[in-house]
Amino acid sequence: MVRVKAIEKGGIAEELGIVPGTELLSVNGRELVDFLDWEFLTADDELVIDARHPDGEQVVYEIERPEGEAMGLELEPPTIRRCANRCEFCFIEGLPKGLRKPLYVRDDDYRLSFAYGNFATLSNLKDRDVARILEYRLSPLYISVHATPWEARKVLLNNPRVPNIVEQLTRLAEGGIQFHGQMVIVPGLNDGDVLEQSLADLWAFGENVLSVAVVPVGLTQFSHLYTGKSMDRTAAESLLCAVDRWAERARAERGESWVYGSDELYLLAGRPLPDADYYGEFPQVENGVGAVAALRQRVHDGLDTLPDLTGRRIGVVTGVSMTPLMPELLGQLTVATGARFELISVENSLFGPTTTTAGLLVGADIRRALVDRGDLDLALIPAECINDSGVFLDDEPFVAVREQLPMPVYPSYDFIDALVPEGTPRIAGAAA
Ligand code: SF4
Repeated sequence: MVRVKAIEKGGIAEELGIVPGTELLSVNGRELVDFLDWEFLTADDELVIDARHPDGEQVVYEIERPEGEAMGLELEPPTIRRCANRCEFCFIEGLPKGLRKPLYVRDDDYRLSFAYGNFATLSNLKDRDVARILEYRLSPLYISVHATPWEARKVLLNNPRVPNIVEQLTRLAEGGIQFHGQMVIVPGLNDGDVLEQSLADLWAFGENVLSVAVVPVGLTQFSHLYTGKSMDRTAAESLLCAVDRWAERARAERGESWVYGSDELYLLAGRPLPDADYYGEFPQVENGVGAVAALRQRVHDGLDTLPDLTGRRIGVVTGVSMTPLMPELLGQLTVATGARFELISVENSLFGPTTTTAGLLVGADIRRALVDRGDLDLALIPAECINDSGVFLDDEPFVAVREQLPMPVYPSYDFIDALVPEGTPRIAGAAA
């Protein structure tokens, strides 16, 4: 059963008399277990939907839907499948106490992997789940592989009952499913031979493995399970050497790099980040792989669209890891607009100084950085640190933080978006 959360005005569902709270029980005789069933079983145009209204009345709707027209309803969010692992490096173990409850949920859900690109380990996958993945062709999936050698993976996921990932991937690949994989590397556990074996195993899946990201383990000052070695410059460099070797082979044989080091890995190794060309279609940009190259590209492409902002002072807030990369970008923005951009590098007060990502800055950090900066005409902050509900990780609403600051503040992904939204400069009086 799935429950209706909201109804679109003028849509099919409203016309039928479906209301929020209605339970949708089956479609064309197939029981509905979750949103996936609803999405796939309502793909037909002739539908028999068995439903129960909030007052208990059971109704059968027989519908001939005009081709392609949406049903016009939103379902309540699914119950998240919980993770069965206890990874030493789990970010959730590194969260401070007292944050809002959903942040502590360890999801490991193949459905969200398909629907939203969340990474899943497949540790909790049952035979019936595999059958659904194959039937609905849930492809591509985003899979946290970490290591293909079974014993190494058991240690990494801290779960002696974890299934053999090579067998799982083989079954899915034989059914035509493709994957993006990630390897979070803990020095001493899955680098060296384990990484080499894992990349060889993934390579053997051919076109089924679309890309692989190699990501250094990230720890906060609250991480308390970690027992391995730290990810230092030498460890990062040796991971990039393995990535380079495999990427070179992939470019020669597949025409694309296939395996990518995350941006953080390059920064840790002190190596320049590759150009946008290296990342092709940016298959794992959401995973921090090529995000800097993509940003550089967007800034480069948007410079011509910027207004004249001569004389303005614009503060740009970022995290410590992005700080060394910003002067080059801000220099280009200065030339293009005439404004004076000031870089404001902020340490993370919630997770501690080892957490340097701009996207994890919290409301208190933004306030601290800007509250005394009445000299700025405008401030840009990383849009990634605010969620879809407009709230920072420390539960501070963006609008509340903004009200306490002496200048207009805009969340921005790439500067261009904030300086010229839909062709209009954000600063009143600026020439277009
Ligand atoms: S798979 Fe590991 S890292 Fe991911 S949520 Fe579970 S314990 Fe945490």
